[in-house]
Amino acid sequence: MKQSKLFTRTRKEAPSDEVSRNAKLLIRGGFIHKEMAGVYDYLPLGLRVIEKLKNIIREEMNAIGGEEVSLSALQDPEIWKASGRWDDKKIDVWFKTKLKNDTEIGLGCTHEEPMARMMKEHISSYRDLPRYIYQFQTKFRNELRAKSGIMRGREFLMKDMYSFNVSQNELDTFYEQLIRAYKNVYDKIGIGDRTYLTFASGGMFSKFSHEFQTVCDVGEDYIYIDKKKNIAVNDEVMQDEILKDLGIDRNDLVKEKSIEVGNIFKYGNRYSTPLGLVFKDENGEEKPVIMGAYGIGLGRLMGTVVEVLSDERGIVWPESIAPFVVHLLVLGKDETVLKEAEKIYDKLSASGIEVLFDDRIDVSAGEKFTEADLLGIPYRLVVSERSLEEGGIEIKKRTEDKNKIVSLENLLKLLAS
Ligand code: ATP
Ligand code: MG
Repeated sequence: MKQSKLFTRTRKEAPSDEVSRNAKLLIRGGFIHKEMAGVYDYLPLGLRVIEKLKNIIREEMNAIGGEEVSLSALQDPEIWKASGRWDDKKIDVWFKTKLKNDTEIGLGCTHEEPMARMMKEHISSYRDLPRYIYQFQTKFRNELRAKSGIMRGREFLMKDMYSFNVSQNELDTFYEQLIRAYKNVYDKIGIGDRTYLTFASGGMFSKFSHEFQTVCDVGEDYIYIDKKKNIAVNDEVMQDEILKDLGIDRNDLVKEKSIEVGNIFKYGNRYSTPLGLVFKDENGEEKPVIMGAYGIGLGRLMGTVVEVLSDERGIVWPESIAPFVVHLLVLGKDETVLKEAEKIYDKLSASGIEVLFDDRIDVSAGEKFTEADLLGIPYRLVVSERSLEEGGIEIKKRTEDKNKIVSLENLLKLLAS
């Protein structure tokens, strides 16, 4: 993509009402636009990051048997009344609205109830199970505070998966696979080393639920990490009896601020029984389907990566989710240099490398460098009179200060590896 064609502009200052670092950097880079508190638009660069995140998650969900759907955001109160969750006291973040005839409807904040009802039409026998259904879908939550940028939105994209099993045993096996799949996601996007499987309080049907918490100094949560065991517990679990149960010694725990980047639950028949989601087992006996749910917020993930990996000059994207892999800058107005840069851009693009080409001739070298640092694309390439004299293209990683000159041929080899 040519930067001269990109409609978004970077800016030196973030809006004064924006307090979070992730949103400040992302707004300044033109990745997102702020509509109002807790509500953000994704612009071309930001959308590319979201799409990459989606693909990484999709690959992991498909690998464990996931089938992708997309359920509606408008929801029928009847199913929520059936499960007892329509009440604002049960779910304090509900957005509700009304049809012209005064009938109330909900704007979905999660999808256990609609999923359970939808699956009733597709599950009747043990032969129809197990099923693992997921979606990338917009959630609405009337969050009290929205000061964490895209990490806590009032409208946000979530990947939510729901599992449907014949037994608790079958669910337990899947749950372990799901944990590995989530870990793969965090590893692939560069936050695996600081993301912990965290024991949280369970519901009626399991002792614990689990959160995935990423250590982050602007996190809204606290976790207590056992570095040797590579797990953590949250506040709810910090009781001597429970710790003992987990085989954790309080003295081994290190307290850190953290952000919840994923949350997984075993539900048992919590939703299937009230909604009548049942199946007939081998003996023809009717049983409730055993459910679980698994959420990851995509904006939350993207914001977390910005928070933990950026530096004083701007964003630092890991290659896996960077909007582009290389940022090609051409300096000066010399015709031969511009032509050479065009040629390099075409060659890289033809080799399937994602390039953002700063082809603007009315922007100074200094501005281009500052902007490249802000945008955080993994490799910066510079083509200038000097680089060509020295034998080719200057290459520098966003995370390093040293650069070197390479020929086009070697550049292609280097980027292919
Ligand atoms: P939190 O404790 O942070 O309020 P939650 O426990 O209510 O979140 P879940 O309902 O389990 O969250 O949602 C699943 C995932 O969706 C969370 O782990 C998080 O990654 C993401 N998420 C939740 N709320 C938001 C939000 N307001 N904005 C962006 N992402 C969110
Ligand atoms: Mg939570």
